[in-house]
Amino acid sequence: MELEGLKRSLQFLEDAGVTVTDLTTDRHSSVKKFMREIYPSINHWFDAWHIAKGITKKLDASSKKKLCHTISPWIHSISNHVYWCGASSDGNAELVVAKWKSVMNHIVDIHEHPFENFPTCAHDELVEDREWIAEGSRAHVEVKSIVTNRTLLADIGKLSPHVQTSSVESYHKVVCFFAPKFLHFFYHSMNARLILAILHFNENSNRQQAKNKAGKEMWQLSFPKAKKGEPVAKQVKVPCTYAYIDELLDEVMARREAIPSYEVARQDLEAQIAPEYVKDQYDKVDKLTVVATRKSRFTQLGI
Ligand SMILES: [Zn+2]
Repeated sequence: MELEGLKRSLQFLEDAGVTVTDLTTDRHSSVKKFMREIYPSINHWFDAWHIAKGITKKLDASSKKKLCHTISPWIHSISNHVYWCGASSDGNAELVVAKWKSVMNHIVDIHEHPFENFPTCAHDELVEDREWIAEGSRAHVEVKSIVTNRTLLADIGKLSPHVQTSSVESYHKVVCFFAPKFLHFFYHSMNARLILAILHFNENSNRQQAKNKAGKEMWQLSFPKAKKGEPVAKQVKVPCTYAYIDELLDEVMARREAIPSYEVARQDLEAQIAPEYVKDQYDKVDKLTVVATRKSRFTQLGI
């Protein structure tokens, strides 16, 4: 679905005369392949949040292995390092990779690196002592296998220097409000709900921070799952506005005046053809065969 959505979105923009120069996504493998083969002229970047999340998950698992507890205090810093590498390198892939690899030295208290483009760490002299990992220790080897993973090194050079996908994630929350995932909608209904979500999101995405009666900025505490109980301060925003509803009502009246009868309106709607189902692009499956395969598999397992 991710790939199909991307294909349609890029086609839509192309038809509208928009030239896309840069695209930031997660590291979905079919999306990577599609962009490389079909749109080689578009700079394809990867979102730092998705890369950092994957690395954190792997480091977390490694830190639980025998003799590897020394990894734990570094997980947060290594994840932050991902963001820093992307944000400080202006899309220069070689520089991002050098900065990223330098973390292997940094965690063992070595701050000079064999990279021409990044010979020393960018931080100031460290005053406080850290819980350095011992060079060549089991923990160091574990971290190395994660940091220098070949696929990761190939992707990390394309860390998005500017745009991140976090606003898309918050847009998805709005979509879930207008089109809950546990309900099925046919194409036209889904399309209308997505348009509503877009109107609402665009009107409300840049809301200011709310102030209380004394004129002080308002904050609230949140406890995100990813932070494991650690509180995070979030801005309280001013309430949402709904000016798009008035515009929609005007459109409804204009349409009522332009279309003489309900019958004509219905025909007009039916003339809008929905694209074919994504599942129809694949070979048809025979349900009985699939059921038989499942039954025989479970018989073999003795269930
Ligand atoms: Zn350092």
